[in-house]
Amino acid sequence: MTIPAYVETPVERIPEIRDSLEKAFRSGKTKSVKYRKEQLLRLAYFVKDNVKPLQEALAKDLGRADAETSILELGNTLGDIKTSYENVAKWAKPERLPFMFNWFAMKPTLRKEPKGVVLIIFPFNYPIWLSLGPMAGAIAAGCAVVLKPSELTPAYSALIAELLPKYLDPEIYTVVNGAVPQATKLLELRWGQILYTGGGRVGQIILSAAAKTLTPVSTELGGKSPAVIDPNCDLKTSAKRLIWGKMSNSGQTCVAPDYVLVPKAFEAQFAQALKEVLYDFYPEGAGKSDSFSHMINGGHFERVKGLLDATHGEIVYGGSSDKEKLFIEPTIVTGVKADDSLMSEEIFGPVLPIVPVEDVDEAIEFINARDHPLALYIFSKSAAFKSKVIENTQSGSAIVNDTLIHGAVEGFPFGGVGPSGSGAHKGKFSFDMFTHIRPTLDNPSWVEMMMSGRYPPYTVAKASSMAKLIIPSLPSRPSYLPKLEGTVAPKTSNRWGVWFLVAVAVAGYGLIRVRRSA
Ligand code: NAD
Repeated sequence: MTIPAYVETPVERIPEIRDSLEKAFRSGKTKSVKYRKEQLLRLAYFVKDNVKPLQEALAKDLGRADAETSILELGNTLGDIKTSYENVAKWAKPERLPFMFNWFAMKPTLRKEPKGVVLIIFPFNYPIWLSLGPMAGAIAAGCAVVLKPSELTPAYSALIAELLPKYLDPEIYTVVNGAVPQATKLLELRWGQILYTGGGRVGQIILSAAAKTLTPVSTELGGKSPAVIDPNCDLKTSAKRLIWGKMSNSGQTCVAPDYVLVPKAFEAQFAQALKEVLYDFYPEGAGKSDSFSHMINGGHFERVKGLLDATHGEIVYGGSSDKEKLFIEPTIVTGVKADDSLMSEEIFGPVLPIVPVEDVDEAIEFINARDHPLALYIFSKSAAFKSKVIENTQSGSAIVNDTLIHGAVEGFPFGGVGPSGSGAHKGKFSFDMFTHIRPTLDNPSWVEMMMSGRYPPYTVAKASSMAKLIIPSLPSRPSYLPKLEGTVAPKTSNRWGVWFLVAVAVAGYGLIRVRRSA
């Protein structure tokens, strides 16, 4: 099929689009699990029926190989949709709390309710997975959804604007295309939830705008994800997996290894192993290879080239570029110092700086002196080395002896920590992001006989009867907590009182059931 033309949504139509989704949502049609499952299956078949056009769109937008789109996006997306389809009935079911003497009579229940009309703003680099993956969670949660794609992927953005309404209920799910003016208008409105995936600079704009409407936001941001190398690693496999993670999508991957920390004495040997992998991956040179993507646009090309031009490290592989083709050659730079241009921001391009360190302790210190990364990679055969790095750092995820693949693991959340993002999506985590857990209870009148002590006028007897009911008894006082002079421990429940109340409650409950069934 030919990719349709990219058309921006008129800014002035945006409030009306949101209102009509709100109206359709209020009709209650998303409440039924049957409806949600049907929409999920429709979404799955949208992907399955359109593999070719989706691949074509990303070949146009990113120069990306079809195989890479399948491996890195399509499988993942279909996996997320299928997980939601198979589990939505279980996830959406109200949950009764386990038996608690104090509360069981009130049938305390957690209802899983959709947050409403939600907004998913996503970036250019993995636009299929980062839109339709979380969308599956939003559909399963019963939300109405506005997708806001990146203006930097006009082919993909036009494709979904054209095709999604042919598969999904257009009253409930829609696409708003455009750039900053459209995004700004969307952000003036209140949403049940915003999921923003993209860079931290725009993340700050989104969070500030959402604060004005008190809209809850999950952020999936980027940053510099390090790889820590132990000389005691499987050198060939480590180099292969690291280069694959770095060079896929021309380095424009949020969880790409951004830089490598290697002991000085091992740096040359490790760099050599990386170079050999690059010769294997792109025997004719990446510039001529169909397996290598280009930079998304001139701005990002110039940004990465600027970082590379300013480096004081030694380029031991690559270094060339071609502006017309938005091509930056896969590049390895050794001897990079902490204050180098390549360490000044997330590279988000196919340039891999190697930062030599003394040992693992210095590597850990280096990581901890910076923002918590989205991913942390460790290459080692030693259990002690792996756990030392994991135990002493913080990151969105910590992956040993591989890169990127954690995004595909069913049951894993995908997200950062601190400056690399808050909240996580994928599978059940997406469902949870778009679900409000609404506690409900229904307190029968007969519970008055246990709880009437809460009403004024307060008396010592009433207070003590309530304390027995609601103030929990603690484990016995530990020896490291000496009793302070003059403190009086509050009276808490005594076991005989509790048993008495259990007997009364069970008898009362039984009596009511017998009466009801008579
Ligand atoms: P981008 O330029 O495509 O922008 C992302 C989204 O923000 C787009 O939809 C865009 O239209 C919107 N936007 C841009 N300017 C805006 C503004 N002023 N106001 C409101 N919205 C605006 O992508 P990007 O930000 O360059 O994406 C790359 C970044 O995203 C990298 O830092 C990468 O690490 C990060 N990322 C993170 C994840 C993750 O899951 N944590 C995934 C992919 C990318």
